[in-house]
Amino acid sequence: MNQDIERVLLSEEEIAAKVKEIGAKISEDYAGRDPIIISVLKGSFMFMADLVRAITIPCTVDFMSVSSYGSGTSSSGEVKIVKDFDNSIENRHVIIVEDILDSGRTLSYLMKTLKARGAASIALCTFLDKPERRVVPVEVAYSGFRVPDSFIVGYGLDYDQQYRNLPYVGVLKPSVYGE
Ligand code: 5GP
Ligand code: MG
Ligand code: MG
Repeated sequence: MNQDIERVLLSEEEIAAKVKEIGAKISEDYAGRDPIIISVLKGSFMFMADLVRAITIPCTVDFMSVSSYGSGTSSSGEVKIVKDFDNSIENRHVIIVEDILDSGRTLSYLMKTLKARGAASIALCTFLDKPERRVVPVEVAYSGFRVPDSFIVGYGLDYDQQYRNLPYVGVLKPSVYGE
């Protein structure tokens, strides 16, 4: 295990099983609807890669990037679209794929913006959720795991751009970010 990780929350095996389950559910729910699956970079890239391989129906894959966190561990409340996705979502069924839902500010803002672009439907799929941290209410269609209110890294999630490559999800030692 990486020396900066206090404890492993989710093993590779647990993650793989859950991602398969969500992929199967989405395939069932969206059969015949060619959904656009949009990954919110960078945190969701690994979840996205595994998820779309678990989806067995035709779908469109796209990416966008928003900034809400700097290099710290708490939300600034400001959300900016840094890279927009390429496809038109007019009259399309959209699934937004996020790494972790925390205060809800990022996804709440995104939902508002994307609804204005005329999608037929928009659903949220988050790998992790910290429900007790919610500041803005957000409706989640697909959620992988509830996690405690600790700073979490791995499987795409970073601290200061590090640890994204860990194949498991773990709690970062507070000493790493100076607490
Ligand atoms: P929200 O807008 O819901 O407060 O923040 C969501 C974003 O904050 C996530 O997409 C993620 O980038 C970041 N975030 C929130 N909690 C954590 C965490 O425990 N670990 C990491 N690495 N990022 C987090
Ligand atoms: Mg994110
Ligand atoms: Mg980050």
